[in-house]
Amino acid sequence: MYKHLFIPGPIDVREAVLERMATPMIGHRSKEMTVLQQRISKKIQTLMGTENVIVLYTSSGSGIMESAIRSVTRKKAAVFSVGAFGDRWYEMAVTNRVPADLFQSEPGEPTTPEMVDEVLATGEYDVVTVTHNETSSGIVNPVGAIGEVIKKYPDVLFLVDAVSSLGGDWIPVDEWGIDICITSTQKCIGVPPGMSFASVSERAYQAALQVEYRGFYLDLVKIYEMAKAKAQYPSTPSLSHMYALDYQLEYILHTEGLENRFARHARMAKKVQKWALRHFGLFAKEGYRSNTVTCVQNTRGIDVADLNAKLAPLGFVISDGYGKYKSKTFRISHMGDTQDLLLDELLANIDNILGL
Ligand SMILES: *Cc1c(COP(=O)(O)O)cnc(C)c1O
Repeated sequence: MYKHLFIPGPIDVREAVLERMATPMIGHRSKEMTVLQQRISKKIQTLMGTENVIVLYTSSGSGIMESAIRSVTRKKAAVFSVGAFGDRWYEMAVTNRVPADLFQSEPGEPTTPEMVDEVLATGEYDVVTVTHNETSSGIVNPVGAIGEVIKKYPDVLFLVDAVSSLGGDWIPVDEWGIDICITSTQKCIGVPPGMSFASVSERAYQAALQVEYRGFYLDLVKIYEMAKAKAQYPSTPSLSHMYALDYQLEYILHTEGLENRFARHARMAKKVQKWALRHFGLFAKEGYRSNTVTCVQNTRGIDVADLNAKLAPLGFVISDGYGKYKSKTFRISHMGDTQDLLLDELLANIDNILGL
């Protein structure tokens, strides 16, 4: 039986999108491919509120994160973390020998503009990384306000992980001064996993030119230059994903519409938060709660594996906590094309199973 995915990615993909993945192939150096790429880029620019160059990577979002921090850090990166995915950016820096320092917030607390300002005032850093929406802890960071602070430091690049929020929450890239904004296809976008995309500013590109060792496959300079000049890629992209993405972006922008889409995510988040506060607790501090995934404090000590075993025959699955919060929290996603009615059904099923 199919289980509806209320885990924070991958999530349910609409049948029509899945069908697009079966479109016959074209040459990756053909004119048709260029046209497809240009069409996708235009739509992503609208989705992100940016005029920056859009790059697609045939890797999951982690590929662009690694590419970004490695390709543009000249002096040192200041990595701000509110959970496992923030920490991941630091591990990427360390394993690529990119100089970096990690700044973690207290559990449940966001990265604040004040923290970033204090760290940048030292003059040691030329890159800041922030997780917009931390999937492990359900925290959404004040990226706009952080961007304002970073604008005071003209040499500093702003890298944002928006993997679990872009497409479900409004992230105006140019207004917020984001140099590289990254997302994957399998979360709020509603396309199968295997591709990711990002906006890249001219500043970020210029910075990357000054970095000597950027690797080969994930070299941001090569990918940026080819995307900009030819609307193509150095190596063969996943054309199947591109067909699906092109189709789904059309749906997001013009069938559902961005405002409706963001409102639906916010509404579903409120619903789950209310439910969680009635029966459990919330991990994220008020004012910093994600619109796309809710991290619930497991105050009743329920066994999430057991709950999932009972949800499975009803056609649902949720997620346990991440890393060290595995049993202390559990997570319910409300992202992508998931609709209110299905979410209501999930919560009613959980209430029944747990006798709430
Ligand atoms: C899922 C996720 C990632 C990793 O993305 P992949 O596409 O699995 O590589 C990174 N950051 C956040 C916030 C995520 O939710």
